Amino acid sequence: MDLLEYQGKQLFARHGLSVSEGRPVTSVQDAVSAANEVGYPVVVKAQVLIGGRGKAGGVKLAADESEAREHAGNILGMDIGGHVVRKLWIEHASDIASEYYASILLDRSAKQPLVMFSVEGGVDIEEVAERTPEKLIRHHVDALAGLSREEAVQIATDGGADADVIGGVADALVALYEVWMQEDATLAEINPLIVTPERKVRALDAKVSLDGNALFRHPDSQGLSDSENEDPIERRAKEEGVQYVKLDGDIGILGNGAGLVMSTLDVVAQAGGSPANFLDAGGGSDAEKIKQAVDLLLANDAVKAVLFNIFGGITRCDEVARGLIAAFEEIGVGGKSIPFVVRLDGTNDVEGRRLLQEASLPNVHPAKTMNEAAEMVVALAAGKSVGTPA
Ligand code: GDP
Ligand code: MN
Repeated sequence: MDLLEYQGKQLFARHGLSVSEGRPVTSVQDAVSAANEVGYPVVVKAQVLIGGRGKAGGVKLAADESEAREHAGNILGMDIGGHVVRKLWIEHASDIASEYYASILLDRSAKQPLVMFSVEGGVDIEEVAERTPEKLIRHHVDALAGLSREEAVQIATDGGADADVIGGVADALVALYEVWMQEDATLAEINPLIVTPERKVRALDAKVSLDGNALFRHPDSQGLSDSENEDPIERRAKEEGVQYVKLDGDIGILGNGAGLVMSTLDVVAQAGGSPANFLDAGGGSDAEKIKQAVDLLLANDAVKAVLFNIFGGITRCDEVARGLIAAFEEIGVGGKSIPFVVRLDGTNDVEGRRLLQEASLPNVHPAKTMNEAAEMVVALAAGKSVGTPA
């Protein structure tokens, strides 16, 4: 679960990390009041779950009320990489002497928390990592012991932080580690972590992702999920209790069981296709559930073709076929001319295939194996024909 910048900063503040005073607002009028309250100059910042807001024009300094009004008006409603700005964060502007970088994440291959620090902050950190890897300090932490202040001082020193702020940077790293650990975060990143002319260390930006599965431990954080920024189809799926993750491709995928869905994604990718989603209809999928799932798949406008990959166990293939037939009837899938490739195997597969054949649904193509199904769906998504449906 990704947090907006200001939500991340609120978590930071709770753990003693220094942040600027600010207010979240949703209108120009409130932006101006907030700016008057926190005091000029202010920074007007788009609150969207995507990086590079500064470059896109979503972060602007305002010296007075009229500039605050102008920037708020321009940034609200702005589209930043497909994210429409509905919320602003107005904070008192900081003077900047240096921009550093700090982050903590779980290094899965090392099975340890990883602290990263660089004095080359405020820029795309991937570029720093690529061009001058020696300037990005990477330090693994013993998860049981936690990050000690001595270690943090060493990291700041190794990274080349100015001598007079090594203590301040170390404090920030220790606090950031506390955020990461105690809040069950999967990522806690500050870019830039600034040094002010007064030699204070402060988080000017915040990128925090929380582990959604640990939310029950954090009643304070449960309200943080920003439903406006959540993908609408993912939200609907969640409400309906369906495992759905949106991806960037154009081939809708449905399978039963997470393992089967994942291998289906792999096989489609191998066949040269690009999956539009992960959708696990689950074990024991009945006709009603299949209909719901088809609805979800087609709600994504990017989908050009759909692959149903069902291995019947508890899920009976005849039930799946009935669901698909019902979906075609009730939500008029045929009219949308999206081709479906259906692979039914396992419990009652013969019956399932017979039902589909009898229904002779337009644009439904049965396949015998997973590989064959993947090749067919990739061809169909590319607008090629694959022979007449059975
Ligand atoms: P991002 O572009 O989405 O990473 O947004 P940031 O919050 O990191 O802001 C982008 C850049 O705007 C920062 O790297 C700073 O250079 C600048 N910026 C943000 N806040 C302030 C501020 O209070 N004062 C000054 N002088 N610059 C700021
Ligand atoms: Mn940033």
